[in-house]
Amino acid sequence: MMNRGAGIALALAAGVCPAALAATAEIEAVYPAAHSLYLELHQQPELSGHEEQTAAKLAARLRALGYQVTEHVGGTGIVAVLRNGPGRTVLLRTELDALPVEEKTGLPYASKVRAKDDAGNDVGVGHMCGHDLHMSALVATATVMAKSRDTWHGTLVLIGQPAEETVSGAERMVKDGLFTRFPRPDVVLALHVANDLAAGKVGVIPGIYDTNADSVRITIFGKGGHGSAPHTAIDPIVIAARTILALQTIASREVKPGEMAVVTVGYIRAGTKNNIIPDTAEMGLTVRTFKADVRKQILAAITRIANAEAQAANAPRAPLIERYEGADAVYNDPALAAHLRSALVGALGGEAVVTREPFTASEDFSVFVEQGIPGLYLHLGGADPQQLAAAEAAGTRLPSNHSALFAPDLDPALHTAIAAEVAMLRDLLSADAGTPVPSSGAGTPPKS
Ligand SMILES: [Zn+2]
Ligand SMILES: [Zn+2]
Repeated sequence: MMNRGAGIALALAAGVCPAALAATAEIEAVYPAAHSLYLELHQQPELSGHEEQTAAKLAARLRALGYQVTEHVGGTGIVAVLRNGPGRTVLLRTELDALPVEEKTGLPYASKVRAKDDAGNDVGVGHMCGHDLHMSALVATATVMAKSRDTWHGTLVLIGQPAEETVSGAERMVKDGLFTRFPRPDVVLALHVANDLAAGKVGVIPGIYDTNADSVRITIFGKGGHGSAPHTAIDPIVIAARTILALQTIASREVKPGEMAVVTVGYIRAGTKNNIIPDTAEMGLTVRTFKADVRKQILAAITRIANAEAQAANAPRAPLIERYEGADAVYNDPALAAHLRSALVGALGGEAVVTREPFTASEDFSVFVEQGIPGLYLHLGGADPQQLAAAEAAGTRLPSNHSALFAPDLDPALHTAIAAEVAMLRDLLSADAGTPVPSSGAGTPPKS
């Protein structure tokens, strides 16, 4: 843990202005509690949709700070509202869930939790995506804001969202009245830690932040028979093999060069025994794109190719093609991003705020933005700076989110998360009531 003096000395060394220095002192005041909450949450992770204890912990802390807290919004979600006079309404979100990953970091506070997943399998459970860091930062930020009501005015809405990892929690919260039962925000904010940027820094990504993600399942129908008599059967494995190869030509031959397009066949399942031709073959795909029109083009091409390959093989029926899960790309309002970037530079210093390229990951923060609300999803550095530099020099990468080895450089990352959140909230909640939020006009990217 960084002590208060060290934090201020660091801020001074970074050339931070006196107002930012005062902010540093108030963050140091809440930091020990944030650090211990992190350790507690890290050792008690819960799977998506089952975040009962996690949600209850956050709810109790926020209630004690004077927030009006509602639990069980969209499942295990929580909404905490602090009204502080006229002004804007700003929402800050954290996720609540952990992953079915057995932690192998070897840290003294590593998770040892095991649980049954929804399919009944016994799995290790770990906060290997950093949502424990986001939660600890949010409670610390909530504390700073509650204790400094003379520095801002308006309404602060903090949410703990369940089931981000299954990209379902945001939609469930919205359907359960997040924007009708509670004050509708003028701006939505969130951040995410990752190991590709040094702890102590934040990354601003104006415009498209990450990808559209579509999960597609294709079931190919053939006609089973004896492996020695292929002429009596229609082999779905061969159809699947041809389909997989043809799918590879979508990104390489059909999509305009330079456009983001990933088509991955992540699994294929067929057959039971070497001398039996099975009736069916199933494959699962993930499709990633930045643009809506490219997404549409790829999904149409998958359908066309799968149908045509089945037809070419004289399959008894067309394949079943199901898009069973998906998320839209998160869009950071460019004007809002530029505005908040200045606030972040003021709080963290110019060197700590960098511009980043979009990610090929995806997540459901997009659901909030798509309600027509300008949003910023901030990238938070989580890597130990020396380890990151060594990895970059060696041409390797540090363990990424979801790895059993993922471990943020806690003290600088958590300090920076709190400082960034407080800076963005204070900035947005210092405007007079009715002042428009800096925005490029659309909550979602222009549909081309
Ligand atoms: Zn994740
Ligand atoms: Zn995550």
